[in-house]
Amino acid sequence: MENKVALITGAASGIGRATALLFARNGALTCIADRSADGLHETLEMVQQFHSDAIAIQTDISSRSEVEAMVRRAADRFGRLEIACNNAGIEGEQSLTAECSEENWHRVININLRGTWLCMKYEIREMLKNGGGTIVNISSIAGLLGFPGIVPYVSSKHGINGMTKTAALEYAGQGIRVNSICPGAIQTPMIDRFVGGQTEERENLIGMHPMGRVGNPEEVAEAVLWLCSDKSSFVTGQSLVVDGGYTIR
Ligand code: NAD
Repeated sequence: MENKVALITGAASGIGRATALLFARNGALTCIADRSADGLHETLEMVQQFHSDAIAIQTDISSRSEVEAMVRRAADRFGRLEIACNNAGIEGEQSLTAECSEENWHRVININLRGTWLCMKYEIREMLKNGGGTIVNISSIAGLLGFPGIVPYVSSKHGINGMTKTAALEYAGQGIRVNSICPGAIQTPMIDRFVGGQTEERENLIGMHPMGRVGNPEEVAEAVLWLCSDKSSFVTGQSLVVDGGYTIR
């Protein structure tokens, strides 16, 4: 990672923040992006303890012009873009498929699926200028299995795995590797919002993980680091599951 230019979206919180910190600790020139200015500022201060050369770029990944500007800003600051972790996402509202509102559908798909595609679009263009790079998209075990009550989220995460394979095929010959990670339940503000204050819901969720616990954001960040590093140089188009065994039942 030493002096590699890395862009991480959704870095104001949870998995994105943990990834930004791990990248900076490993010497990356870290560009962090999020729509939340406050959280982004907090992450920047934390990242700068490891590597002073870091920038924060407030970005809504569902805006084409903001995503284009985000990638340009990173490349202008450091002269290139070599690594990207497209992590920003939302869970949306919970409702059965027949009750899901169009508004909820559009909001989740627009951020999670279209937003991740927009990020890849501009990142790939930038990476091609310098002979390649690596991209890791954060999907979910909801990108592999059905989950009642969150049809837009499940659809967006299945879509991310499909986009990952497609882009991996398209750019394998040009030095760009594209992979995704499918985390199980990870202790972040998203999972707290998802289970609400309900202890029973939380216990049920934990019980679905053979390891008997949810994961930590740092455990996902380690997988991102590996997939973004040269140590995974022959791996592309894969969806790496980091779920404490949830999907092996
Ligand atoms: P989180 O809510 O803690 O962090 C998500 C971050 O994304 C926030 O900082 C938020 O401001 C940002 N974000 C949301 N919409 C954005 C937008 N339009 N533009 C820019 N930034 C935006 O959640 P997390 O758990 O860290 O989730 C990170 C990723 O991991 C998400 O894609 C999520 O779907 C995925 N994931 C999480 C879990 C889990 O259990 N926590 C499991 C599987 C997958």
